[in-house]
Amino acid sequence: MIEYAEFAARCQQIQERITLTCEASGRSPEEVSILPVTKNHPADAPLYAARYGFSAVGENRVQEAMDKQPLVGKAIRWELIGHLQSNKAKVAAEHFDRIQSVDSEKLLRKLDVAAAEAGKTLAVLLQINAGDDPAKFGVECSEADALLEQALECANLQVDGLMTIAPLDEDKSVAARCFERLRETRDRLSASFCTPLPVLSMGMTDDLEEAVKAGSTLVRIGTALFGSRPGY
Ligand SMILES: *Cc1c(COP(=O)(O)O)cnc(C)c1O
Repeated sequence: MIEYAEFAARCQQIQERITLTCEASGRSPEEVSILPVTKNHPADAPLYAARYGFSAVGENRVQEAMDKQPLVGKAIRWELIGHLQSNKAKVAAEHFDRIQSVDSEKLLRKLDVAAAEAGKTLAVLLQINAGDDPAKFGVECSEADALLEQALECANLQVDGLMTIAPLDEDKSVAARCFERLRETRDRLSASFCTPLPVLSMGMTDDLEEAVKAGSTLVRIGTALFGSRPGY
């Protein structure tokens, strides 16, 4: 694990990449937030994030987040960014403040019931496979309308927006097209359902610029902030 001072320097570098890209594309840097991704790093990673002033971290696996939470306390919010099986919906609803990886009607139903039982309104993002990548989870853009329609009927869920993961490709135009497609899908859904869907969670260490250019409001950054993940 890197030292805190190095983490803080890396945070500034990421913020600079965001600011430069926003300036070049006529956006305001305040429109883009960073979600530090702490998966495969020890509890020090979310502790660093809290100390720096971030309000939330992203984790991929329910159990891994649950192992770290007692060591971190209430200092930070937790967002699930990895695939969620519906049999873990209940425990995920209890342990996360937002779930970004909602990709089926069955999962929506289970999360809605679990949120009610936990006595909370659970924030969610719908995961869209906007890059048509067979290796990625998420519904197709054409299936997003049906998923959103059902999500809006879930009284205990609050739909903040959409999330996508771009296909791995050295050609950055592949990621750029995926992100533009997610933004277009958001604009279309927002208009047809008369609901704002303000959050566009897209962009990671290697495709942050493409995502910000295309309208990202939340970049999920792991490697550039914490270094390479042990075991990867
Ligand atoms: C791991 C992960 C990230 C962070 O990726 P980096 O390339 O390390 O920045 C972002 N989003 C999701 C869904 C991830 O699984």
